[in-house]
Amino acid sequence: AGTGKFFVGGNWKCNGTKDSISKLVTELNSAKLEDDVDIVVAPPFVYIDQVKSSLTDRIEISAQNAWVGKGGAFTGEISVEQLKDIGCKWVIHGHSERRHVIGEDSQFIGKKSAYALTQGLKVIACIGEKLEEREAGKTFDVCYEQLKAFADNVPSWDDVVIAYEPVWAIGTGKVASPQQAQEVHVAVREWLSKNVSAEVASQTRIIYGGSVNGGNSAELAKQEDIDGFLVGGASLKGPEFASICNSVT
Ligand code: PEP
Repeated sequence: AGTGKFFVGGNWKCNGTKDSISKLVTELNSAKLEDDVDIVVAPPFVYIDQVKSSLTDRIEISAQNAWVGKGGAFTGEISVEQLKDIGCKWVIHGHSERRHVIGEDSQFIGKKSAYALTQGLKVIACIGEKLEEREAGKTFDVCYEQLKAFADNVPSWDDVVIAYEPVWAIGTGKVASPQQAQEVHVAVREWLSKNVSAEVASQTRIIYGGSVNGGNSAELAKQEDIDGFLVGGASLKGPEFASICNSVT
């Protein structure tokens, strides 16, 4: 872990029912969580209200997506204003499932992030390469292109956490090695230093995501440029997610 406060996000994706989420919240409420970690969970939209009214304030709430502008005639979308109204503090943008399954491009993701930030919602900005891109030696280029779209749009990096999530590691059980993750995190920091500012490079937290679990988080957390995690599957199990949150110590 680096010098920034450790940050762990739990991305529940499109999972859960009222009952299973109630059980997960109970587990999280009774977990012992270290003080020096920022913890955020991202429930599906329809359960955010349930989670907000039952989960400890120790854990902040994120949305998994938000509309690119003010609400209105956008069927099926949820606005930043609505998310703030129900108590969300964060939104995830650029997740690989939205890029590669839903088809969102980097510019749209950059614009969505900019809108969220201007309205006071903090952003977990995801980047990461696909397996064929890594094998073709394009990992850094892909990450830089995705970073540039954030940089071109966001008004400030103060409320942004960058999540490096290699697509081949998401939901596959194939976690990046600590060295593989560290190498990209360093490259991201260098890119920020060169293209944004040295201050932003040193102050922006860069977290890793991709098959993080209770068994591998401690090794990853030892890397100097890994400032936390974005966790999918393992965030659906309260005790395991708590142990990942506590892996900074
Ligand atoms: C994610 O969805 O952000 C993620 C990292 O998923 P998993 O931990 O299941 O690989």
